[in-house]
Amino acid sequence: MIVAYQFCPHDNDTHMLGDETYRPPRSAGFHDWRFGKDGVAHPATCPTCGRKIDPDFVNPKYKAKRRTWDVGATYDGYVVVSKRFREFCRKYRWEGMIFLPLPADRDFFVLRLSNVVAFDSKRRGTRFEDPCPTCGAFYNVIGANPVYVRGVTEPIKEGFLRSDLEFASGPEQHPLILVGIGTAEELRKQKFQKFDLEAVEA
Ligand SMILES: [Zn+2]
Repeated sequence: MIVAYQFCPHDNDTHMLGDETYRPPRSAGFHDWRFGKDGVAHPATCPTCGRKIDPDFVNPKYKAKRRTWDVGATYDGYVVVSKRFREFCRKYRWEGMIFLPLPADRDFFVLRLSNVVAFDSKRRGTRFEDPCPTCGAFYNVIGANPVYVRGVTEPIKEGFLRSDLEFASGPEQHPLILVGIGTAEELRKQKFQKFDLEAVEA
């Protein structure tokens, strides 16, 4: 039984955390570069492992590069959406959708979701590797697909939700986005650019 669809934005070839990186004197077992400059970690990242630690950070200089895309994902795990996409979502009054303005780009927004669905990491066999002594989280969270959710026995009808877990490595980490069956149908009709929808089965 299909209970939802995974909403997978395409990479939009940008970084929300900016273009400046540096090589730390010791990688501490993590990757050998960090967002930041002059040897100082980007304030929205963990200085040891480079993961994002400030969920509210938005780059005041960020501008969308793919101006015709309605949806895109930055390499560092942000979802950027167009004004047209925001208006569409507002029309349906789906709960828990937050559109953070981009100070340097009035036509695009960062999408945040507050409705959460539990990911079944046990069933999926997700690997949690390389704990960071500074931020206390895992640098590598590997194994998101196929998506298994916990506590969902009936199809989700409407709206957008995010997974409780964030996947990928270091600063790339991001939650998965799920949409209800009806919402997936509406999205397909709109012919928005650029994302895929993949069935999530219970
Ligand atoms: Zn860390």
